Amino acid sequence: MKTPGPTSGRTLGILGGMSWESTAVYYRLLNQGVARRLGGLHSASLLLHSVDFAPVAALQAAGEWDRAAQLLATAAAGLRRAGAQALVLATNTMHKVAERIEAASGLPLLHIADATGAALQAGGVQHAALLGTRFTMEDPAIVRTRLAQRFGLHVSVPGDEDRALMHRVIYDELCRGVVSAASRSAVLAIIERQRARGAQAVVLGCTEVGLLIKAEDSPLPVFDTTGLHADAAVRWLLDGAGAET
Ligand code: GLU
Repeated sequence: MKTPGPTSGRTLGILGGMSWESTAVYYRLLNQGVARRLGGLHSASLLLHSVDFAPVAALQAAGEWDRAAQLLATAAAGLRRAGAQALVLATNTMHKVAERIEAASGLPLLHIADATGAALQAGGVQHAALLGTRFTMEDPAIVRTRLAQRFGLHVSVPGDEDRALMHRVIYDELCRGVVSAASRSAVLAIIERQRARGAQAVVLGCTEVGLLIKAEDSPLPVFDTTGLHADAAVRWLLDGAGAET
């Protein structure tokens, strides 16, 4: 019997569980992406360390980013020992400590802002509204500065009340598997306010928000970081593209 043709031979490590609701989406998209390209029974060669999100979220809320970084760096080192050759950190917020994870593990990390910025640029977007956790919207070092410096984008964020609502919907609902019509309407209203202020597109800069907001309902074109990050990971798995930092 003829054995299936070789894939790239690359194995990707995923740091997930933040939350597992979105990691499950990554897992499906990565496998579907590889199957679409290679056909047959092909699927993605992956190693997943899915953390317990409760202690990570508690460290975020307490501002203990060093300890959160250590926890993820330890997990990343384990993925390397198990055979991973690059990393995907399946959350926007924890990209706050992406460099430390990369340095500690010695593995290249496929940065979520690079996947997103490249797609915005290719779509001709100059001004994008960013929705995510309070951390992602308020701390430029997570993704905003990278989107601006590497891709020349103007990135705006909603006002304080809207940021509070986004944060609450993410942690109290989406990360717990709750998808509500009321929250969908509230988030669509936020997107509409960003459109009225001149944004040309909305970045779903939290890996769970795509569970709530679908492109067809949005008043602005949607750039979902989960799907864009997974696409970039498929390109790395199959073509070796995108692992430079
Ligand atoms: N998954 C979310 C994100 O993309 C939020 C959960 C977390 O804080 O990691 O930012």
